[in-house]
Amino acid sequence: MTAEPMAARAMADGSKNAGKQKPPPPMPVDDAHFAYIRANLIATFYHEFAHALIDLLVLPVLGQEEDAADILSVLMLNMDFRGEELEQLARDAARAFRADAIDREENDQPWAWADEHGPEWQRYYNFVCLHFGAAPDLRRVFAETMGLPEARAGICPDEFMLASRSWGFALARVKKGAPGESIRFRSHARRHLHKRAAATIHAAVKRLNRSYVLPKQLRVIVKHCRDDSPLSAFYTPDRISITVCTEYIDDLLHQARTAGSL
Ligand SMILES: [Zn+2]
Repeated sequence: MTAEPMAARAMADGSKNAGKQKPPPPMPVDDAHFAYIRANLIATFYHEFAHALIDLLVLPVLGQEEDAADILSVLMLNMDFRGEELEQLARDAARAFRADAIDREENDQPWAWADEHGPEWQRYYNFVCLHFGAAPDLRRVFAETMGLPEARAGICPDEFMLASRSWGFALARVKKGAPGESIRFRSHARRHLHKRAAATIHAAVKRLNRSYVLPKQLRVIVKHCRDDSPLSAFYTPDRISITVCTEYIDDLLHQARTAGSL
């Protein structure tokens, strides 16, 4: 990401020399690419919110926690959005799993079987199956377009019902007393794209505060992570915080430009 320090310097210079020499404007991000970034930020944020709920509510997790977090992400997309906006969010979030899977194959990288996450293709099909299962009558074309095999599609409505019921118990516990302000948002974003992306996360935080009140305050931070973490976004139990790295936003833009149309 060589553009990062260049852009940051340009912005600092611009504020000092206001009215003198303007820095070059950042390369614009077209709407389709930002839609891809937005979809994946929201889906990833919901995934991290699942980790926070599992920790704060001391939830039983009867399987891989990463799978449980992916499942909540699909459920929350279906709860919080409607119509074509929901379909676009789901398509683009699923495409990110597929892009990661294809990227791994093209680079001959074997799957790290000891990883706590499931393989990308499995995460992709689980995501597609659950979204299809939420409204099978409306999403036949979605299932076909995304390559969901008939054999799996047949059980997806039941998978969605089970997921909805299971997470429903947990969400019911934090609905009491809503709306609230138990989730606090902070952004250190400076570049235009990062600020726009941070606004997406901020809007998601506001939606959650309208519906849920957590037993402890959860902090959500958008920041440049540098080498602090190899992860794009993560929940930290010790601090009760979700961090979304601006490097992840840059990665999503790169993915949107190279693989978003897959
Ligand atoms: Zn996770």
